[in-house]
Amino acid sequence: MSYHVNEKGYYGEFGGAFIPEMLYPNVEELRQQYLKVMDEPSFKEEFNQLLKDYVGRPSPLYFAKRMSEKYGAKIYLKREDLNHTGAHKINNTIGQILMAKRLGKTRIIAETGAGQHGVATATVCALMGLECIVYMGEIDIARQAPNVARMKMLGAEVRPALSGSRTLKDATNEAIRDWINNPVNTHYIIGSAIGPHPYPDMVTRFQSVISAEIKTQLKEKEGRENPDYVVACIGGGSNAAGTFYHFLDEEEVGIIAVEAAGKGVHSGESAATSVLGHKGIIHGCKTLLMQTDDGQITEPYSISAGLDYPGVGPMHSHLYATGRAEFKAITDADAMKAGLELCKLEGIIPAIETSHALAIFENTKFKPDDIIVVALSGRGDKDLNTYIDYFGL
Ligand SMILES: *Cc1c(COP(=O)(O)O)cnc(C)c1O
Repeated sequence: MSYHVNEKGYYGEFGGAFIPEMLYPNVEELRQQYLKVMDEPSFKEEFNQLLKDYVGRPSPLYFAKRMSEKYGAKIYLKREDLNHTGAHKINNTIGQILMAKRLGKTRIIAETGAGQHGVATATVCALMGLECIVYMGEIDIARQAPNVARMKMLGAEVRPALSGSRTLKDATNEAIRDWINNPVNTHYIIGSAIGPHPYPDMVTRFQSVISAEIKTQLKEKEGRENPDYVVACIGGGSNAAGTFYHFLDEEEVGIIAVEAAGKGVHSGESAATSVLGHKGIIHGCKTLLMQTDDGQITEPYSISAGLDYPGVGPMHSHLYATGRAEFKAITDADAMKAGLELCKLEGIIPAIETSHALAIFENTKFKPDDIIVVALSGRGDKDLNTYIDYFGL
């Protein structure tokens, strides 16, 4: 069984590149070049240098002592929250901006929902002096004012998506439209392990620095590279893909993927894609997707803006279908509780996305000597208002 992408861009029956003909030259250029470029010594050197000096990698692998005592297992946190801009997303945008430069592109476009990927993209565009246009739903622009301000300060233009539900999926449609109209000079930086091939694989490879570091760091701390479990939350699935990547073929490592159950998996307000989803095509990719019987995409819901994507990356659909990964769905309430608990137990305020991954300990039995590595995908500063409203702080 292979858990990696094949020549045609498929993970099992998921993936591929379902794109309008107008987009074909752009995607095809990227498909032909991405592995070659990533393999160039000068590319690797520049990527690794920036990850070290600009992002602050390697991110620590922290043994969470009090949390471990509480849950009776050895829990390690991979501290992506300590990266520049506060989450794992910068690993991918650094990789893609270098890719864009190698391909001779001078103009960058991106989509963003809550604004985290928009900020990470605006950041690397400032770093490289490239033009940056970020598409964002009109509703999200109103909801996420601080991130809109950040993007503007970093020199990006934020363009509102005015169609449909005026949220992430509509922003993505606008970005794709832009790319069709500007095929020669523009690179589209997609923010998760989604989209047409080669994006899911390219994003996964850039994020795989997470699991590469876990191996080295765990070897130092525990004398072995492989934990018993790796755990990560899933929106589109990029922090999870990076956290799982180097363990996919290590059968003794259990993989746990955590989705947002919102107000309950079957409440009608959820983003538990693996349970509720059916095969369909979204943003150029065949994957599990929340949709109505006649194939209309269902609006997802989660208290965390980063998890409410109606689909999931094709690698994760394959991990679900093959049973290689165990999928769990965590409600808003359980996530919020786990987030506050991490604050009190370890002095770390996590992003609400991450809080979903942390919440599994309440209902999952581990053995006392089990080593579990949780991807702490981001810090909670951006979620302060949600925490304040929820807990009445
Ligand atoms: C965006 C985001 C996520 C969800 O995105 P993935 O691509 O699934 O990783 C999770 N955590 C944080 C902190 C985020 O900003």
